[in-house]
Formats: sequence, C-alpha cells, structure tokens
Amino acid sequence: MSVPKLILLDIEGTTAPVSFVHEVLFPYAAAALPELLRERADDPKIREAVAEIGRLHPGCDPLAQIREWMARDEKIGPLKALQGIAWKAGFESGALKAALYPDVVPCLRVWKAAGIGLAVYSSGSVSAQRLLYGHTEQGDVTGLFDGFYDLAMGGKKDAASYRAIAREVGVDVAEVLFLSDIGAELDAAAMAECEVCQLVRPEDGTVPSDVHPHVKDLPGVAAMFGLPGVA
Ligand SMILES: [Mg+2]
Repeated sequence: MSVPKLILLDIEGTTAPVSFVHEVLFPYAAAALPELLRERADDPKIREAVAEIGRLHPGCDPLAQIREWMARDEKIGPLKALQGIAWKAGFESGALKAALYPDVVPCLRVWKAAGIGLAVYSSGSVSAQRLLYGHTEQGDVTGLFDGFYDLAMGGKKDAASYRAIAREVGVDVAEVLFLSDIGAELDAAAMAECEVCQLVRPEDGTVPSDVHPHVKDLPGVAAMFGLPGVA
C-alpha cells in the first residue's frame, strides 16, 4: 500500500497502557473526590452531579454511592462527570501525568515530520483526550495531532464512524491507517476500507486478532507499512 495520509490512533492499549486508566486514573479520582465534594461543593458542575446522584438514589450518601459505582466500574453520568472534574484538577496541578508508551512520542514526531496527518479516536471525550495528551511525561504533545475525535463521530465498532472521520479530515477513507488494540474496532475500520493494524502490547496482555496484521509497538507499525521509523 502507499503511505497513509492520516494515521488514526486509539489511546487505551494503543498509545497508553490499559493499566494507566485502572491503576492510576481511577484510584486518583477515588482518592480526590471526598475533598473535591467538600471543598468545591458550590461549583455548579459538582452541585449538578450530586443532585443527579440524589435523583437516581433518593436519600443516599453521595460519596458512598460514588464508591459503589466505582467499585463496579459503572459508566454512569454523574460518576463520569465527577471523575472528569477530579482528573482535570489533577492534570492541571501536575499531580497527574499521562504515562504514554515510550515509543509513542518519538514515532509520532517522525511521522508528523514526514507529512503524515495524525488524529485521535477514543471513547474518552475530546476534552479528556486533550487533557491527557496535554499533560504527558513528555510534556504537552497535543500539537502532534491534527484532530481529536470521540463518540460524537459514532461508535468505534461502527464502520460509518471511520467514514465520517475521513470525511471530516478531508482524506479518502482508504488513505487512513487505524491503530487499535481491539479486534472489533479494527473490523469496523476495515469494513469502512481503512488500512488497519492491531497493537498487541505485551504489557496489556492483548490477544492478537487472527484477521488483521498486528505488531507490538509503533516502530513495528512503521516497519510493517513502510513508514519512516525511529532510528
Ligand atoms: Mg484501546
């Protein structure tokens, strides 16, 4: 194939370890929320989330309810909102830094310098994506990306989402190379006629798909697709 015009990247399991979310971000929010609820009780966003918890579970202790949801990893509106507020405060204060896989930033720099467009597609919101890439151990790397896309473009297991992103960027969908650790997402992108490659990070214990090419890191992607790589 020819060199892609756009490389579209998933985050969790692709550019950042799955463990970062579960072993760093979730515990950070769990530890930060009691103080956040106490000290910023008048913040309208916090007030609204707490009110919503009360509507869902009348008479409950909001903090106990939050802990219960977190223990079950529930994706529920007020919990997501409060976690988002805690993470924003953590990243902005410097208490939290995103630990990307070490091959990611060097490789993305080489690809960008070669004129390849780069974009993010993650189920985390665009603001969460910017927060994460804005506060990495390598500093603010948001400038590497030409676009940030989330579920507003559609689900990651839906081929139409990849066509929509290609249209938005202004490239042919066949000129997009999508990188993810999840087979079903790669299936959808391949159905949309993107080139795809699975990241099988040993640290994440990813199971290789038997239908798509797979590599263990971004230099592996460069080798497989004939892209410039890191010397
Ligand atoms: Mg992933």
